[in-house]
Amino acid sequence: METIGSRAAYGGTGSRCWRIEGASKGTIHSGHPLSANRNRPTLMSLSIPTLQFTDSVVFLTCGVVFVSCWLLHRERLYHLLFGLSFLLCASMSIGFVDFGRYGSVWSPLGWSTAGMLFWVGLRLFDQRRAMTTFMMVMAVVPVATHVLLDLATFDEEAVNTGSTIAYAIHEAAMAVYVLSMSRGRSPIRKVIGLSLLAISIALCLPLLSSAILPPNVPVILIFVVDHVSSILLTTAILALEADRANLALARQALRDPLTQVLNRAGLVAQTQHVTGRAGVVVVDLDHFKRVNDGHGHTAGDHVLGTFARRAELLLPFGAHIARFGGEEFVLVLPGAGRAETAVFAERLRRSIGAKPIGWNGAQIQISVSVGVAIALGGPDIPAAVDRADKALYVAKTNGRNQVRVA
Ligand code: GH3
Ligand code: MG
Ligand code: MG
Repeated sequence: METIGSRAAYGGTGSRCWRIEGASKGTIHSGHPLSANRNRPTLMSLSIPTLQFTDSVVFLTCGVVFVSCWLLHRERLYHLLFGLSFLLCASMSIGFVDFGRYGSVWSPLGWSTAGMLFWVGLRLFDQRRAMTTFMMVMAVVPVATHVLLDLATFDEEAVNTGSTIAYAIHEAAMAVYVLSMSRGRSPIRKVIGLSLLAISIALCLPLLSSAILPPNVPVILIFVVDHVSSILLTTAILALEADRANLALARQALRDPLTQVLNRAGLVAQTQHVTGRAGVVVVDLDHFKRVNDGHGHTAGDHVLGTFARRAELLLPFGAHIARFGGEEFVLVLPGAGRAETAVFAERLRRSIGAKPIGWNGAQIQISVSVGVAIALGGPDIPAAVDRADKALYVAKTNGRNQVRVA
């Protein structure tokens, strides 16, 4: 890297293609720590070739991390896209600076492609359509700017300034996408959005007059922002993914997979802090075994799912439904008294019996037996379920398809 010599070199990041005068001695302060000023205490030295090298190493590392993740789970295409984006950045930051490709149309093309791969990765990660027309325009504008300014015979500096600003806008648009998608105001998503925004702002720093920032400092800042943002983007995306997986697991642990209503643990979690009384309704489908025997197990599953959906539609606001196992469901109505809960239970029973459930052309008629009890508060709900269960047993032994209150 130190062989850049006396030719003008360029910052090797983003259309990160700003001219750096005298890059061969491009340190942020004058004098090398090991130079003649050996006895003078020196500050940390930020040589541009060194920053360029470490930038490529960081890009490469992030790329390898994502490609490895993709090799582990090939269906997660976004890992591959993030990985390719970082690997392209790594090759660009080396190739364009040290192998003389700087200034050609390959520069905006390469950086825009890297940006586009990353953006598509983010959208796939969000389970959205991979590409939009707006994204395509954003990706094409830096190259188009380069070509048009070149055709209009602007000098090399102007051509690169134009295409770099266009690319900075591309990065900013990606940042706005991430920040506007901050579901639940996730701080991790904010880190991703702000990292992308920082890159786009850093890319514009060389436009500032040298009175504000000394020469080379803007390019050094671009490198520093690149280093930090690459690490932040990689760790934040992986953290977001881990958080999403944990949420899905927690949800799974509290839900019944067949009907998607709460399971027993989920009901306890949702109702343990209920204050005051609550209506408790235990429902058991009558002769459900016959459904399985007559129409098959899959039909039975369909009936269970349909029952859950219909019961959910009848539930008052703030009430909960859970599947306790088999064809038994428990509903909790916080704040409801005995009469109110009994009326609800009767409405549910009638509604379920009123409309047969269609399955493969057959109409499956079902009925339910229901037990009702009142809990004195969240902690009393399990005991109230037992009381309602006893009432349900009475409903069963008395001929089914009826409501009994404990
Ligand atoms: P009762 O009116 O006395 O409640 O009679 P029943 O047939 O509804 O009750 P029983 O306890 O004899 O049978 C319950 C059946 O529910 C037996 C079991 O195979 C079926 N079952 C339990 N879980 C599932 C499930 O997830 N899917 C399906 N399809 N059937 C299930
Ligand atoms: Mg039953
Ligand atoms: Mg049962």
